[in-house]
Amino acid sequence: MGNELGDLFYSQRMKMVEEQILKRGVFSSKVAKAFLNVARHRFVPADLNKMAYDDSPLPIGLDQTISQPYIVAFMTEVLKIKKNHRVLEIGTGSGYQTAILNQLSNFIYSVEIREEFSRKAQAIFAEMAIKGVHFKVGDGSFGWKEESPFDRIIVTAAPKKIPDALLAQLAPSGKMIIPLGGNFQNLFLIEKNSKGEVTQKLLLPVVFVPMLQGQIQKR
Ligand code: SAH
Repeated sequence: MGNELGDLFYSQRMKMVEEQILKRGVFSSKVAKAFLNVARHRFVPADLNKMAYDDSPLPIGLDQTISQPYIVAFMTEVLKIKKNHRVLEIGTGSGYQTAILNQLSNFIYSVEIREEFSRKAQAIFAEMAIKGVHFKVGDGSFGWKEESPFDRIIVTAAPKKIPDALLAQLAPSGKMIIPLGGNFQNLFLIEKNSKGEVTQKLLLPVVFVPMLQGQIQKR
């Protein structure tokens, strides 16, 4: 980056990684490095640039939010993503989580129901010359059948229960992280073993936007 503002953002990013991520127990150096590499300020509205590295979610328009850095880090760490994993993300939103995932695997598939968000995220990726991430506009509760199965699935909008299609598209030995509930939600880790048996583990209470189901939002 080289310029002063770029340097400021870099030092804010280092502080974010130290204080919000490492100190709270997300210890994977691969995850920490991903957070250092991705310029979070690029994914928030320009007038919120200065708050991009704050310890909080931020509005990205249409009543949606970019998740708090710690939550993105926690969800990413729990998935233990490897370079060759096929990863499905539901809820592209700003594209920030997508960019973090892209640091960890070569096979990222991201579905967003609001066309405007998907287009915006794709434009940022193009500007940053990030290649090889696959985007789709559609209802993510149906997953992305043509590209399935997925070794990892991350859901960043909360349905009431796990969509059947997502469970079906999770590969044997796969992991899915998903917030479930209405006004009060909990984050769950869903694991499928090599025989296809599924277990679920409650991780922590969270607040995500609800998952829309059944209809594509054109705006
Ligand atoms: N990971 C995003 C979080 C965005 S908030 C980020 O870091 O910015 C959740 C997103 O899920 C919103 O963009 C919302 O439009 C999207 N969403 C809601 N229901 C959806 C569905 N059924 N399929 C795909 N995306 C959905």
